[in-house]
Amino acid sequence: MSLDVGIVGGGYAGSAAAIYLHRAGHRVTVYEGVERPGPVGAGILLQPTGIAVLAELGLLEFVKAHGAVVDALRCVTDSGRPVFRLPYAEEREGLHGLGLHRGVLFQALFDAVVREGIAVHLGAFVNRVEEGRLIDARGRRHGPHDLVVVADGARSELRPDGWPTSLDQPYPWGAVWFVAEDRDEVFRRELFQIVGGSKTMLGFLPTGRAPGGDAPLTSLFWSLRVDALPAFRRTLRFRGLQAFKDPILRRDERAAVLLDQIVDADQLLFAAYRDVRMSRWHAELGGAHLVFLGDAAHAMSPQLGQGSNLALYDARELARSLQNVDASSVELGLRRYQENRRAHLNFYGRVNRWTTPFFQSDGAVLGALRDVLFPIATLSPWARRQMVQTMCGTRRGFVFADPVPLD
Ligand SMILES: Cc1cc2nc3c(=O)[nH]c(=O)nc-3n(C[C@H](O)[C@H](O)[C@H](O)COP(=O)(O)OP(=O)(O)OC[C@H]3O[C@@H](n4cnc5c(N)ncnc54)[C@H](O)[C@@H]3O)c2cc1C
Repeated sequence: MSLDVGIVGGGYAGSAAAIYLHRAGHRVTVYEGVERPGPVGAGILLQPTGIAVLAELGLLEFVKAHGAVVDALRCVTDSGRPVFRLPYAEEREGLHGLGLHRGVLFQALFDAVVREGIAVHLGAFVNRVEEGRLIDARGRRHGPHDLVVVADGARSELRPDGWPTSLDQPYPWGAVWFVAEDRDEVFRRELFQIVGGSKTMLGFLPTGRAPGGDAPLTSLFWSLRVDALPAFRRTLRFRGLQAFKDPILRRDERAAVLLDQIVDADQLLFAAYRDVRMSRWHAELGGAHLVFLGDAAHAMSPQLGQGSNLALYDARELARSLQNVDASSVELGLRRYQENRRAHLNFYGRVNRWTTPFFQSDGAVLGALRDVLFPIATLSPWARRQMVQTMCGTRRGFVFADPVPLD
């Protein structure tokens, strides 16, 4: 039994889905909007769930060789008071995260798509579905396909207006990012954050090595409201880069080794987030069966570091849900997918929406509450376990739900 599948978007979700579905015997075509696909942005943290998917796909060796092992997530206040430290090994000995340059994950997946001979159309920016066909920005028509996997990211243009109870809005906060060489690995083994209320957050993520590079990297991020970006840029223009560097150095003087590499304000990238929620991830639209994966289905702030991991897990579960499905039973496979993903995705969507304002929002209350509540909560072994599992990406519910399997 096999399907003809069109995949819109060759990012993490789209590429992983292409590999899984191709290996399951389906005929797959990937439509990628840009001519030269590649990742933009800085480092990401791969969690045990994402690592398990890459291991299953046989891509972990390459990723691991370029990644930096992250043993724990640590957070302190501006004055150095601990807020929490959550080691992965508390869940299971040997468990860890992997700090990665985005290009490494992208290359691992996209190269595998090409290597396995999966059909790829580059420069095919699909913006509508009509009469079962995909129409791209140049007016070309593609398909029809038995199933269209929509994996075109947080700003998906294929998300239908008026989808029941969907949410699709930008988050008012984002972050300035810089990826620097960290040859002495000053920032190693942990994702380290320094917070001041909920308006200031500085972070350091060990990022491994860029594809083709040999220097260890660290990603530095600095929280910023989206509407404060023009003023931030103006300040740098008039007062110079030191206006950015000084508040960071006051919080952690070790950052000098990274900041010395910033000589031009254009080296600083700004990343904004979106919040996307859909009550259902599949539908028959424009004469085609559509299913939404990855950020197109559930974009969220990176506070819990889960977006890529959920995208990879979506791909794995879609392929499992489509086992023994043919063109006449696609709907059944998609209902199975919805059922399989519901608890996991709903949990992370909710927890992410609840926790992000404790780290990035206006007002004084949430930051102060966090500094009191988190240290108390982490004294309880039960609460710590919940927090560590949440970080690992395996939780499917608040108390009794079984975790998602890592093998
Ligand atoms: C600042 C920041 C930090 C983050 N940190 C982490 C982290 O530490 N850990 C983590 O797990 N996640 C993190 N994330 C989230 C993570 O980046 C996303 O969840 C992940 O990239 C989603 O993958 P995706 O394949 O769904 O979408 P994308 O990566 O956005 O890929 C979409 C692909 O579709 C293509 N495309 C777009 N529109 C079209 C179209 N119309 N037609 C055809 N192709 C199209 C694009 O060119 C792209 O290749 C972070 C996000 C941000 C913004």
